[in-house]
Amino acid sequence: MALKNVTVLGCGVLGSQIAYQCSFEGCDVVSYDINDEALEKAKQRISALKDSYQKDLHASQEEVDKAEKNITFTSDLAQAVEKADIVIEAVPEVPDIKIDLYKKLADLLPEKTILATNSSTLLPSTFAKETGRPEKYLALHFANHIWLRNTAEIMRHPGTDEKVFQTVIEFAKQIGMVPIPLQKEQPGYVLNSLLVPLLDAGLELWAKGIAEPEVIDKTWMIATGAPMGPFAIIDSVGLRTLYNVIDAKDGEPFASIAEKLKSEYLENKLGIESGEGFYTYPNPAFADKDFLKA
Ligand code: NAD
Repeated sequence: MALKNVTVLGCGVLGSQIAYQCSFEGCDVVSYDINDEALEKAKQRISALKDSYQKDLHASQEEVDKAEKNITFTSDLAQAVEKADIVIEAVPEVPDIKIDLYKKLADLLPEKTILATNSSTLLPSTFAKETGRPEKYLALHFANHIWLRNTAEIMRHPGTDEKVFQTVIEFAKQIGMVPIPLQKEQPGYVLNSLLVPLLDAGLELWAKGIAEPEVIDKTWMIATGAPMGPFAIIDSVGLRTLYNVIDAKDGEPFASIAEKLKSEYLENKLGIESGEGFYTYPNPAFADKDFLKA
């Protein structure tokens, strides 16, 4: 294995999943977070992942226990990175927090270490200089529920070394991901560049009163063969997250969409997590065998 020693910085929602997935696939993993309290939460998150791996991937008890044991936890940054072949940064999506961390890392990382960011919205070129190793820095972006939604979007910035880019593509395969290489920087990577316009278009049709969510989803499903339409996807993303994204955009149709979401849904219909969004769960209409019939 070319990159065996993996350090994950930030052990929140995504960091804990990344650490566990890497360990599950045989890497030696160090998880770093800011203090003991955060590390305690991280341990609980990681322990909770074991059930999902058993249920969704049919992993054995021995496999899930071994993956858990092979993660070391620390709040000492120097110790966390001293042996790292690759460091994956999954700290909050706040530029100042990332810059501060990169500056500290610049003095601590061994020469060989590749530094990857899991940032969803920030471009690596913004931070390349601060890392002190622009040629060994790039984005490696995972999706929530990494063990099931196993894309790894690998995005280089203009200064990323070709060999480093290829090494990280191979690493993604090693840890059970399907690598999605991006040859240039693109906000939203591949997935959200496709998904966000689809969701926005569905919401605009709805907010303008042109068609109801079920009709819009049905159209998309019949015509493209997709298993879900935009509103079913929105239910799985969660309506509050979606609202925050829409609310941050200026002008129309976003203002009308945000208003309608707020007045008709946000009170108690938040999507799958609350049992109801555009559909009701656990048996949403779009999954019914008759949904696509006339
Ligand atoms: P989170 O808030 O769940 O976790 C962040 C963790 O970082 C926390 O445990 C926090 O204690 C820790 N932290 C804070 N400051 C730190 C520092 N200076 N050094 C080390 N750790 C620090 O966040 P998240 O949802 O896991 O997101 C983390 C990154 O992953 C973000 O860049 C986000 O864009 C990206 N991401 C998130 C998702 C998602 O669905 N949540 C999906 C893909 C990518």
